[in-house]
Amino acid sequence: MRLTRFARLEYAVSMVGGKPGLSLLARQLAESSEIVDPDSLVFGETGIYRLTPGGALTQVAFFRADNDIDSDTLGPLFEQHAHHGGFNGDAVVDALHHYHLVECPVLVEQALHAWPGEYAIGQHAAGRFPVSFTRGASTVIEVEDQRLKPCPACLERINKRLGRHGGFDSGRFLPGDLLGQAFERVPLGSTAPNMSCRSVPESLRTDWERIEKALLALTDYRCQGEDCPHPELSDPAHRPLMQAHYSGHDVGFEHFAHLRSLCVRCHLQEADHGYLRNRVSHHRYQQTFGHV
Ligand SMILES: [Zn+2]
Ligand SMILES: [Zn+2]
Ligand SMILES: [Zn+2]
Repeated sequence: MRLTRFARLEYAVSMVGGKPGLSLLARQLAESSEIVDPDSLVFGETGIYRLTPGGALTQVAFFRADNDIDSDTLGPLFEQHAHHGGFNGDAVVDALHHYHLVECPVLVEQALHAWPGEYAIGQHAAGRFPVSFTRGASTVIEVEDQRLKPCPACLERINKRLGRHGGFDSGRFLPGDLLGQAFERVPLGSTAPNMSCRSVPESLRTDWERIEKALLALTDYRCQGEDCPHPELSDPAHRPLMQAHYSGHDVGFEHFAHLRSLCVRCHLQEADHGYLRNRVSHHRYQQTFGHV
């Protein structure tokens, strides 16, 4: 078997417990970007998350990938700087769309207007993103590594949450300060009581409810447990019996967490999950399906 350099990487990842396809996504997010439907993302208080149907969760920077050069702010600047190709001047960078790291008022406003524009996600540690400059329907220039600034409203929220560990300012902040770390090591977040999965690291607890909801919808409320006697729980009456389980970070890409959607019966068989036996959801399961 002859493998290309990229295929070798894929193969190596599959041998150490990584999931197929994850290396592809990781490379994509680090080196280029992925155009997304914003509605497919989880916007949380501690991060913006990309979740795949396979259960891979990672934190991303979210940005608007198209810039209208005829707009009031960009128009005059663009004429002066157009010959440079990429734009490093602070005035131009200021006039471009910022990238976002958490749900903020600017994003809520965009969502209310049905997301006008083309949106993308990435994990560009150095804060340089692929964006296009458009005039009407046509693309005038595509820039591979355009410097963008972080959204001040997002940074304000992050700083508030981090307290004395915060103090990021938008001039010096780089996405690598927050992205690319294992969730177990990210300082953001807080504890939430009565979570069904106690393996969830602190950094994800604030947003876990939203993440869990998104995962269960993506997997059609189907239990991924081995030997599950009743894996199909998409009936609205059965949906409360489904839970998301945090099974740890990926071996090859520690900034990707692995989640599984499990029914409460299968979830309580995970290590240190015996506490679920006494929860209402488990009693409801037994009422519905008997003792299995
Ligand atoms: Zn923002
Ligand atoms: Zn769990
Ligand atoms: Zn199950």
